[in-house]
Amino acid sequence: MNRQSMLVIGGAACLIGVLQAQQQGGGPADSPAVSVKGKTYTPASILARNMGTTADQETQFPPHKVVGNVYYVGTKTLSSFLVVTEQGHILIDTTYERNVATIKKSVEQLGFKFADIKIVLGNHAHGDHQEGDAAVKAMTGAMVWAMAEDVPALKAMMPGGKEHPVDTVLHDGDKISLGSTTLVAHLTAGHTRGATTYTARVKDGSNTYDVVFFSSLRAGGTVTPAIAAEFDRTFALVRKLPCDVPLGDHPAEYDMEAKFAKRTAGGPNPFIDKGHCFDEADIQEAMYRAVIKERR
Ligand code: ZN
Repeated sequence: MNRQSMLVIGGAACLIGVLQAQQQGGGPADSPAVSVKGKTYTPASILARNMGTTADQETQFPPHKVVGNVYYVGTKTLSSFLVVTEQGHILIDTTYERNVATIKKSVEQLGFKFADIKIVLGNHAHGDHQEGDAAVKAMTGAMVWAMAEDVPALKAMMPGGKEHPVDTVLHDGDKISLGSTTLVAHLTAGHTRGATTYTARVKDGSNTYDVVFFSSLRAGGTVTPAIAAEFDRTFALVRKLPCDVPLGDHPAEYDMEAKFAKRTAGGPNPFIDKGHCFDEADIQEAMYRAVIKERR
């Protein structure tokens, strides 16, 4: 059984990466520890923060507007975003197949039609983010667009033996346009070979904001020289992205729950948070540098 099929069958994609890292590091089970802005992180603490419990991964978070035509339709710990346009919708991350019914419910509770999803995107080829692609395509007829470098891993992701659909292959810098919205796909490899960060300029009232849907930046598993080269490029690239609204593939990466709780009618939108756009990159780069140093 290769690693990818383990990821799909096991479901706990990220856990396997950390276990491998621990085994190959040869050091204490959960190291290194890094301190960023007064908080300490270890590989296990980041994983626990991202994934929560199995129930958290499957429990609907109240669906809500993030900014402009961007909505949150995911669970407590697995992000899924709906970008609504007059020509249909874009769904970023279907998460686990067993969550698709919950995502559909969230889309409908916001007043939109699930069948209006025309394009499915994913932030990276792990089951907790893209296992549901085939199910969403079957229910909506949407096209699945995927970064070329992640296509082999996606093709190995076959829940229930279903073929993983890939209708359009993306390359770094490609644009995805639907209605009046355009997303740009940025290859931000490292966590997987084709991990993808999407950016969009979104109108909200009379203002326009740069929204960044960050991919995972977490160094799980073995960091080979090739993967290190990917991360070095990725960390430099993401810090240059124009950003007013940072989002992430796990809600904890952008403090969703706290921001959601801060929303008030007529008050400032807490998701517009330019000052914290690169907090998650800071944490993940600190961990990545520490991992490289420890295992050298
Ligand atoms: Zn992952």
